[in-house]
Amino acid sequence: MTSELSIKWKRDDYVSIAGIIDENANFSDLTNRKTDILYIDLKDVARINSSGVRKWVNAIEMLKEVELHYINCACSVVDQLSMVPEFIGRKCTVESFDAEYACETCNNTQIFTLVVGYDIEPGLTKYLDGPEKFCQKCKNRLEFNHNPDSYLFFLSKLSKKRKK
Ligand SMILES: [Zn+2]
Repeated sequence: MTSELSIKWKRDDYVSIAGIIDENANFSDLTNRKTDILYIDLKDVARINSSGVRKWVNAIEMLKEVELHYINCACSVVDQLSMVPEFIGRKCTVESFDAEYACETCNNTQIFTLVVGYDIEPGLTKYLDGPEKFCQKCKNRLEFNHNPDSYLFFLSKLSKKRKK
């Protein structure tokens, strides 16, 4: 098997990271390529373990002069954003992230990508629920399938710089 982590450059300033971030993760491709601004797409990150978190935080520290934008953060990434403050560097913003919703009528779950500043406001002191979403099949209101208080905690640390 090859490495389970994949780092693919879509543009000079846009990189897509997929797979598993663990003790084998190597971000030198990321940290070697220094630009002023970097968009990091985290849609397909399947899992991050504690060693992976350390690797990531180290890589972000090496990119501390770069304006980082996290895009499409997978649920596995959002958990880390909220639990590990260093996961978001000083010059780093979260543009959008995934959240899971459940339909009690259809008994299924759906993933929505929420855009910060559009679907949900950053910088609130407390988050009691996710934004309202409706089932694509039965149109019923969906339940936010995370504990909003912990899952959305990272948003409290983001500034309200964006317009509504
Ligand atoms: Zn439904």
